Amino acid sequence: MRLVLLGPPGAGKGTQSARLKEKYHIPQLSTGDMLRAAVEAATPAGLAAKAIMDKGCLVPDETVVGIVADCIAAPDAKAGFILDGFPRTVRQAEALAKMLGAKNLDLDAVIELKVDEAALLARIAARVKETLACGGTVRADDTPVAFKTRLDAYHAETAPVAAYYAKKAVLKTVDGMAPVEAVTRAIDQLLEGAVRTVRLGREGHHDGTI
Ligand code: AMP
Repeated sequence: MRLVLLGPPGAGKGTQSARLKEKYHIPQLSTGDMLRAAVEAATPAGLAAKAIMDKGCLVPDETVVGIVADCIAAPDAKAGFILDGFPRTVRQAEALAKMLGAKNLDLDAVIELKVDEAALLARIAARVKETLACGGTVRADDTPVAFKTRLDAYHAETAPVAAYYAKKAVLKTVDGMAPVEAVTRAIDQLLEGAVRTVRLGREGHHDGTI
């Protein structure tokens, strides 16, 4: 199962990806987590990305495409993967299609979590408050200014990615405003349909398009 989860920051991609990872036993490839690990480890890529990430902007396509290419080629991704936070630009989506195409593979589904922006801002404010109440450190890009920049980047760069996948007829939309359990159930239902269709395609009764 090869999946992409799309949605603005704070939409719940991380939560749902973690659940999908448990259910399908495939790796969750979060470019945000990988970049934060690179920052933590002070690798050259991490050091270059830190200031960009703190501001809430997107790191260069080449950086993330390289990271994802390595992950997809790793043995644990043979049975599939969940991409969480990638692709975030049409160029990244095209690079992904090329990587998969070279192996004669395709995505099984792209799931977009739709949420309304006012709710997103409230969610993020609650996350900051909770973190502070527990004595934790707030992510530099969760401040109101950086979060607004992330949302702007989403509208400018990532919204066209949904349109890109809609054209390829692999885009499925889920109401991300529903309670977490209901979102999980909705995704499960979509994927059961997708798996059935792909299976039919492999048996030669269908072209495999979902
Ligand atoms: P996330 O944890 O997915 O919200 O990502 C945190 C930050 O990492 C983003 O605001 C970007 O600065 C960077 N980042 C993560 N994934 C990507 C990507 N696919 N393309 C560019 N920048 C990314």
